Amino acid sequence: NRADVTYFGAGPALLPTEVLENASQALLNYDNTGLGIAEHSHRSQLAANILNEAKADLGGGSGGFFWLAPKEEDADQDKLVAELSKAIDNELKLDYLVTGGWSLKAYQEAGRLLGTEHVNIAADARTINDGKFGRIPEGGTWKLSKDAAFVYYCDNETVDGVESPKFPEALVPKNDGTGPIVVADMSSNILSRKVPVKNFSLVFFGAQKNLGSTGVTVVIIKKSLLPPNCPQPSPSLMRKLGLPIPPVILSYETIAKNNSLYNTLSIFDVYIAGQVLKKLLKTFQDKADGQEAVANKKATLIYEALEAHPDIYRIVPDKSVRSRMNICFRVTKNGETE
Ligand code: PMP
Repeated sequence: NRADVTYFGAGPALLPTEVLENASQALLNYDNTGLGIAEHSHRSQLAANILNEAKADLGGGSGGFFWLAPKEEDADQDKLVAELSKAIDNELKLDYLVTGGWSLKAYQEAGRLLGTEHVNIAADARTINDGKFGRIPEGGTWKLSKDAAFVYYCDNETVDGVESPKFPEALVPKNDGTGPIVVADMSSNILSRKVPVKNFSLVFFGAQKNLGSTGVTVVIIKKSLLPPNCPQPSPSLMRKLGLPIPPVILSYETIAKNNSLYNTLSIFDVYIAGQVLKKLLKTFQDKADGQEAVANKKATLIYEALEAHPDIYRIVPDKSVRSRMNICFRVTKNGETE
């Protein structure tokens, strides 16, 4: 019986029973239409309502990015290619804060796609912790590139139990609004506290942890990074520059232009996320603050229980960066009784 089970899976994570009960009914017959939610067209008004409501309840936008090139038809192609190539060779740098397994994977993938000469580890948490993840280096020690295309970090490293306590001081925009373009993976701590959204250019998170079921990823992007504010280079220009061309369905421009409906969006998964959001909004009058209080309370309860038995449990991350979402510990000092 569902009610008898206590489940701590990080993701796919536990969903509210009430949401799943409604969803099982919706799979058979959504809103008395005689058809299930997974059978209705993703282009129907009904699907659009589910999607738009979920977006509104999340309070977010949607999007895509590429900010390298000016409009090529306005310029002499060869000259433009020469100039851009030089700029890319000399200047294209993506900065990564490597604080755990997920940011490490992102860094490695960027190097694979763009060439390792274009990716920079601005900080590697392993260098200050005996080769292991578990701390976050001080912002003052980060080696940020001048004019990096973006600075990437993972706000909560699920596997390593490391969470950034707050928005990194070193990345806060200046008073005039200028500052690094910050990209963050919030897959495993979204909706668990207030986020200073204006400090980010792009935030993304998979739904299956704190939001809903596996199958959808939410992207929040600044409109200034999307066309027409930020024109995209054509595939032919990208090829000449030796840059990877994203498949059209993965291009944020395409996704934003089509309200996430360029391809067949899984409306069922959006429905689940939307129901979870509605339940959260109903439960917590103070929204994120209420959820943060619950998350803190649960985490404190578990950390205190672990701390009470240091002869048995060893908490993996340093106290200053302990995740409130994923509590990583070993059993006995060397883990030999695990
Ligand atoms: N980022 C983080 C922080 C994660 O925890 C995970 C999944 N555990 C991912 C990215 C990858 O998500 P997916 O498997 O949906 O691609």
